[in-house]
Amino acid sequence: MRIKLIFLLLIAAVFAFLGTAGAQPARTTLDIYVVDVEGGNAVLFVTPAGESVLIDTGNAGPGAVRDAERIVAAAKDAGISRIDHLIITHWHADHFGGLPELAKRMPIRQFFDHGVNVQSTPQTDEFLQKIYPELYKQGTHTVVKPGDKIPVDGLDWRVVAAGGAVLKTPLPGAGKLNPACAETKPMYPDPSENAQSVSSYIKFGKFRVVHMGDLTWNKEMELMCPNNRLGTADLFIVSHHGQAISNSPALVHALAPRVAIMNNGTRKGGQPETMRVLHSSPGLEDLWQMHFSQLSGQEYTTPGMFIANLYDDPQASMPVAPMTPPPGAAASPAPQHNGTAYWIKVSAHPNGSFTVTNARNGFSKTYGVGARPD
Ligand SMILES: [Zn+2]
Repeated sequence: MRIKLIFLLLIAAVFAFLGTAGAQPARTTLDIYVVDVEGGNAVLFVTPAGESVLIDTGNAGPGAVRDAERIVAAAKDAGISRIDHLIITHWHADHFGGLPELAKRMPIRQFFDHGVNVQSTPQTDEFLQKIYPELYKQGTHTVVKPGDKIPVDGLDWRVVAAGGAVLKTPLPGAGKLNPACAETKPMYPDPSENAQSVSSYIKFGKFRVVHMGDLTWNKEMELMCPNNRLGTADLFIVSHHGQAISNSPALVHALAPRVAIMNNGTRKGGQPETMRVLHSSPGLEDLWQMHFSQLSGQEYTTPGMFIANLYDDPQASMPVAPMTPPPGAAASPAPQHNGTAYWIKVSAHPNGSFTVTNARNGFSKTYGVGARPD
């Protein structure tokens, strides 16, 4: 009897040893993957403990398999094999479209959304009536409202807008008057699903991320004016793929992110209006993009080193690589500039802040005191 017990203990010890030896090195970071879904949305968060949240699943139709596989590739890279929490921000096909294909490839435990679809289409109705319930019955389904928490260990994940409603009480430490409201005028009403988006404010220690989905301008104003109910953020996933009916100064300038990442497509998002708001955002250190944006033009484009994806067929007129002209006589003459000349003007203040203005286009940017504005 005793020999049998010792034998069992020995087996247990061997398995415990193998378990530790085979384990991956412990993760200490919150990893965020902004997956390229060609102008749709799919952002994967993985906590140090390996708990995962996916916001949206990429496109429907011919893009569904492609996008689902791209999400799976990110999950694999993160070392996870299931989605613990899935948030579908709203019922547009570039956000929920890849879900049936993703669900074939990975188990999904908890489904969160804003509830009733306000923008009926045959495709969306069929998905919501027939396909979606079959998927979420294998896990749990929750309709969220502003103020709700998404239960993720190690993260403070707050829903700040959903179903057309916005957070009424400021987050802890937030609630200051928002000066960017003065430069933000309401736009035409948006009755679409975009305005219903589930929006999130996420804290990992002192690190703060904001993901609003495709929430549009007037809802941003409801949430951020006259008082900023969110506070500031370190990382802003640019709203609505960088389109100009979202990303008001009232939102972006009040969040004052240090880094923004835009989930744009080659011809979706990155319009001049949005680029101006982003590049004049106080404390913004860099803007990263999923794609080169044709809508930015040369005037507003981000340096290629900050862009994740280029064209499959690069255009000769705008090469990806820097140009090395042949030396000496073989070199063609440099392009001329003999027309009107403009200066760049710096206006500095005693407190250390200063404004730089380009006299050609009037573009200016203010640099505040310290590492980042409060
Ligand atoms: Zn979208």
